[in-house]
Amino acid sequence: MNREERRRIARKDVERYRTQGLPPRLSLGAMFAHTAALRGILERKDDPERGTRLALAFHAGFERSMANLDAEPRVACSAGCSMCCHNWISVTAPEVFVIAAEIGRRATATDDAARIARAALAGKGLDRDARLDRRLACPMLASDLCSIYAVRPLACRGFFSLSLEACQAVFKGEGEDIPAWRSAMLLRGIHDRCMAAAIQAAGLAHGAFEMTEGLTMAFADPGAQARWLAGEDVFAAATHDGQDDAEENLFREVLIAGAAGKRLPENPWTPTA
Ligand code: SF4
Repeated sequence: MNREERRRIARKDVERYRTQGLPPRLSLGAMFAHTAALRGILERKDDPERGTRLALAFHAGFERSMANLDAEPRVACSAGCSMCCHNWISVTAPEVFVIAAEIGRRATATDDAARIARAALAGKGLDRDARLDRRLACPMLASDLCSIYAVRPLACRGFFSLSLEACQAVFKGEGEDIPAWRSAMLLRGIHDRCMAAAIQAAGLAHGAFEMTEGLTMAFADPGAQARWLAGEDVFAAATHDGQDDAEENLFREVLIAGAAGKRLPENPWTPTA
């Protein structure tokens, strides 16, 4: 593929991104555009709530991409089914800020924060499997429905089971694998990567960590968003997802360079002429 052809594909991808969001495949041109859009929110230095706004844009971007996927007819998920809400939930710092703000506006905020802190303590030190083994319910569940549905993290938005029986077996400890809607999972990973790159490009802590621990820290520190925006890793003490490998780090560098219109580092994803 020559340079002109690559540019033509990139232009088409960006055009598609503007109207339909990201496709469920590696589409660097569109990912550069999305990373740049997210990064732009963090550049509005006069907005003290730009972390919260970034999370809202992150979620809205994902929903737009999902709305343009061909529907998966076999999705087994339905309201009131909450087995997957007994799990480890990863979040980014901006997602913590948006959930904390939502809960903080409620009349039940003090009780909610106490319940979340108890859940954080119960899950402290447990990995994903241990959490599932203990059936630790997410403290946002209320009568088997998500009480923060509008601001739920991307980790929750992007998982769709294709088999109720498989979910039940895993929940009972009798199975290991749940067939998932692959395109939604791909989109989740693609959006996650753009978000991490946008945050890193702004010089801020981009790691993902366990939700209840992050929320407990945010409730204890009303200045958490301001300090995170100032470059402090305010959630460093929360249990983080595993370390990114060299390939993931390089991919983020590519996104950061592409979003800024700079020369890309040598990488295996951009075809050379
Ligand atoms: S945040 Fe909502 S959707 Fe996500 S695990 Fe908790 S209750 Fe379930």
